[in-house]
Amino acid sequence: MIPPIASDFVAGETPEEALDHVAELNARGVKAIVNLLGEHYEKRENADADADAYIALANDIAARDVDACISVKPSQVGLGISDAAFEENIARIVDAAECFVWIDMEDHPTTDVTLDAYERHATETDGRVGVCVQANLKRTRDDLERLADLPGKVRLVKGAYDEPSELAHTEKSKVNDAYETYLTYMFEEFEDGVAVGSHDPRMIDLAKTLHDEHGTPFEIQMLTGVRENAQFDLADDYEVYQYIPYGSKWFSYFYRRVRERKENLLFALRAVIGR
Ligand code: FAD
Repeated sequence: MIPPIASDFVAGETPEEALDHVAELNARGVKAIVNLLGEHYEKRENADADADAYIALANDIAARDVDACISVKPSQVGLGISDAAFEENIARIVDAAECFVWIDMEDHPTTDVTLDAYERHATETDGRVGVCVQANLKRTRDDLERLADLPGKVRLVKGAYDEPSELAHTEKSKVNDAYETYLTYMFEEFEDGVAVGSHDPRMIDLAKTLHDEHGTPFEIQMLTGVRENAQFDLADDYEVYQYIPYGSKWFSYFYRRVRERKENLLFALRAVIGR
C-alpha cells in the first residue's frame, strides 16, 4: 500500500486504481495521461513486460471508455538495452493502442533516437503520437524546427535531468527565458496545437496570451498532486490533462518530486494533517 503522503503524487499501484482516478478526474473536466512507473531497465524481459503492461493498459482505457491516453519512458521499454529493443517495443505499443501515445523525453544521449521514433510513428499514425522536448537543452530550437510540420503533438517542459552546461542552460532564469522563447515559437509555428507541460503560472498565462494572439489550440498538462485546484479551475476554460503515474515503483518517483521541490513534502504533509 502507498502511504498517505506519497499517495498524493501517485494514483495507486494497479491499473484499476489509476483508471478509477482517471474516471474521477474526467467527471471534473480533466483528461488523463497515464504513466506506469519504471525506467532504466537493463534486462530485456523487464522492458518487454512493461511494454506488455502498456498494451494491457491501453486496452483497459478503451474498455472503460475513459478520456485518457498513455505516456511511455524510452528507457522503460528498452532504450537502456539497445535502440532496436526500444524501437520494437514502442512500435508494439503504438500499433496495439487505440489511444494517443506520448513518448517522454529522458536525458540528452537519448534525444535523437527518441525524436526519430516520434517522427516515424507520428507520421505513420497521422498524428496519434506525441513527444516531449526540454527547454533547458540548447538544441531544442533546432528540434522544434524539425518537429513543426510533423503530425502529432509536442509537449514543452523545462527539463527534469541534470545536463552538462555545454549542452543545457543550468540557471533557472535562463531555462525560464528559453521556455518563453520556445513556447512563443510553438504558438506561431505549430498549427495543430501545443502542449504546455508546466505548473508555472507565468508560463500558463503566456500560453493563454499566445492563444488569444494566434488562435493556436493548446492543452495544459500537470502532474498528479501538483496545483490540482488550479487544474480544475483551468479546466473550466481550457483543455487540461493530468499526468498520472501509478505502479509499484512509486517510491523513487515520490523521492524525485520531493527533491525537485521541498515544498511538495510540506504541501503533502499539510494535506494529510488537514484530512
Ligand atoms: P517550476 O519551474 O518547478 O516552478 C515554477 C513555478 O510553478 C513555481 O514558482 C510555482 O509557482 C509553480 N509550482 C511548481 N511546482 C509546484 C508545486 N509543487 N506546488 C505549487 N506550485 C508549484 N521532464 C522531462 O525532462 N521529460 C518529460 O518527459 C517530462 N514530462 C513532463 C510531463 C508533465 C505533464 C509535466 C508537468 C512535467 C514533465 N516533466 C518532464 C518535468 C519538467 O521538466 C519539470 O521538471 C517540472 O514540470 C517542473 O517545472 P515547472 O515548469 O512545472 O515549474
